[in-house]
Amino acid sequence: MRLTANDQAPPPILVIYTGGTIGMRDSDRGLVAAGNFGSRMAAALSTLPPDRQGKLPRYAVWETPRPIDSSSATPADWAALALLITERYQDYAGFVVLHGTDTLAWCASSLAFQLQGLSKPVIVTGSQKPLGIEGSDALDNLEASLMFATQTDLREVCVSFANRLMRGCRTRKWYTQDAQGFESPNWPLLGEIVDHAPVIYAARCSGIQGAPRFELATGPTPVVVRLTLWPGIRAQDVDRWLDDDRIRGVVIECWGSGNLPEDEALLGVLARASAEGKVLVAISQCPFGGVHLGIYAAGRILEEIGILSGDDMTPEAAHCKLIHLLAQGSSQETLRQRFLTPLVGERGAFAT
Ligand code: ASP
Repeated sequence: MRLTANDQAPPPILVIYTGGTIGMRDSDRGLVAAGNFGSRMAAALSTLPPDRQGKLPRYAVWETPRPIDSSSATPADWAALALLITERYQDYAGFVVLHGTDTLAWCASSLAFQLQGLSKPVIVTGSQKPLGIEGSDALDNLEASLMFATQTDLREVCVSFANRLMRGCRTRKWYTQDAQGFESPNWPLLGEIVDHAPVIYAARCSGIQGAPRFELATGPTPVVVRLTLWPGIRAQDVDRWLDDDRIRGVVIECWGSGNLPEDEALLGVLARASAEGKVLVAISQCPFGGVHLGIYAAGRILEEIGILSGDDMTPEAAHCKLIHLLAQGSSQETLRQRFLTPLVGERGAFAT
């Protein structure tokens, strides 16, 4: 662990570097995660025009000893990150998490469920190109995230990318290479950088105030699988997969507003899994809008066999929420009720 600060006074923002493209260096195997990020970040920020440097908050950098490509991240990494933030929660006014973009939306979703009732911002960011290379988006994202992390109107886990601020548990990686990076299909932007200054749309932000309700993930990660429908899906294949006692939850990505093939055998497999105590939840394959299980006969049956509606949750949020709730060890009834309730603004349409 390395902790470096950009001056002697207590810094208000803690920057946590986990790896990802933002800090990668070229190698004969292609881009690889690399260390010594704090000094590279300080050098890059010192190239900004003086007036913009003057607006940046003081910060300290915590660097993981083993920066990773986030394609190898696991729920254990998100748990360690949440623990780190809670351990330092009182010492900083805000946090910036630097993360690879591939699984950034997963990490942001998991952090949101673990760090409920925040009274300060946790801003997750990364970049599509490494810091310091021609045309990189890294410096812009660092500058924006540091500024968003000082905003007292923000009391939630957010993703900052390409000068846009999004609710973390609503984001999805949308572009493989474009600097835009992420979208928040079912919740509007929480803020933007306009003329190099942060603007927050407070009416869209989480209004929850009070003491933090941290629910850290401890112990083994419950096994949750993701089943995306395809035309011609066969009941026997799903059966072989779900016939495993270690599986505790299934996120089913249905058609449109929550439909499944009218295949008795397939419905039978799902009904059996549900009756065995596995928690099955339904979300849509459509990125915009949510499931409404009662509309079509092909969807109503899902409710009848105990499948929970994931409403308009992203696959990342639905998956992480299910892992999170299963790990809390509460009763099935509590778990099911909490899954259907927005905990951190992860589900439910935005009322304009
Ligand atoms: N593979 C990289 C990662 O997720 C991609 C990125 O950071 O943009 O760590």
